[in-house]
Amino acid sequence: MIKRLITGGSGLVGSNIDAEIKLGSNDGDLRDWAQVKNIFEAHRPTHVIHAAARVGGVGGNMKAKVEFFYDNVMINTNVLEACRIYNVKKVVSFLSTCIFPESIEYPLTEKKIHLGAPHWSNYGYAYAKRMLDVQTEVYRDQYNLDFVSVIPTNIYGLNDNFNLDSGHVIPSLIHKCYLAKVNNTDFNVWGSGTPLREFIYSKDIGKLTNWALENYDESEPIIFSTSHEISIKDLVGFIVGIIGFEGDVVWQSDKPDGQFRKPSSNKKLMSYVPDFKFTPIEVGLKETIDHFVNNYPNLRGV
Ligand code: NAP
Repeated sequence: MIKRLITGGSGLVGSNIDAEIKLGSNDGDLRDWAQVKNIFEAHRPTHVIHAAARVGGVGGNMKAKVEFFYDNVMINTNVLEACRIYNVKKVVSFLSTCIFPESIEYPLTEKKIHLGAPHWSNYGYAYAKRMLDVQTEVYRDQYNLDFVSVIPTNIYGLNDNFNLDSGHVIPSLIHKCYLAKVNNTDFNVWGSGTPLREFIYSKDIGKLTNWALENYDESEPIIFSTSHEISIKDLVGFIVGIIGFEGDVVWQSDKPDGQFRKPSSNKKLMSYVPDFKFTPIEVGLKETIDHFVNNYPNLRGV
């Protein structure tokens, strides 16, 4: 009998994945070995999706490199070791495209994770996450276990953190634009709008994770990306249109743009699931914004 357990089940990714047991931090602190052991002892899962992590934006990462390193190393070490001890048949763990080297030839591919230091702004988080790749490989090698990992690009969707400071780009832009409409003010956006980014809808991540749980068994991770770039200007255009904001969008070009582009390759993913249809960004944004507007202010981070 299959019994799936997901760590981080209360998060953006976790809330889009079906599992018999969904854990949030209320169910136990995964940094603590005794609590992790109790959870596995009680549930005895056969399959584990490991999505729990301490995640945050640039500001949080810059200020708390030690906590981002410590928490993620402890969580990953405890979860993978419990999976070994309790004979879990399959584990899918989450890495991220933001752990790649700062200076690297684009597009990002699965082979380039360790080819240089990550950006200093998320040094603690990135190295802790890279170790999850290393852990996955050594558990496979020494104990012959079916542990794999996946590398999503920027995810957005319904259960996101919409906090104006700690949220990622899409949820914080939605929140800001909504406030500008309600308060009849300008909509101020950081930077020039020219940088290009890739985004993937959380429901697509849910489907791809289920696919990986059943089908993916390589030691090398696999990138989950649309490989489709959109400029921040076009993204803001969609958000403004869907929210129905009619005021001025002010581009704060004195604020940093960040890197111009960081494209990733989904070649490997497409070789496995050539018929997979990604949700178009305007469709995913519409669902996310409708949810935001209908539930405001009862949303994560608001
Ligand atoms: P999220 O919404 O912030 O959710 C994080 C989850 O981890 C929550 O369920 C949280 O529980 C749980 N958690 C954090 N610390 C914990 C602890 N000490 N003990 C137990 N549970 C803990 O993050 P997400 O966006 O879903 O991300 C899921 C995974 O995808 C992460 O591994 C992340 O690195 C990866 N990823 C995310 C993105 C993205 O754009 N969001 C992109 C690439 C990769 P509570 O909420 O109950 O506190």
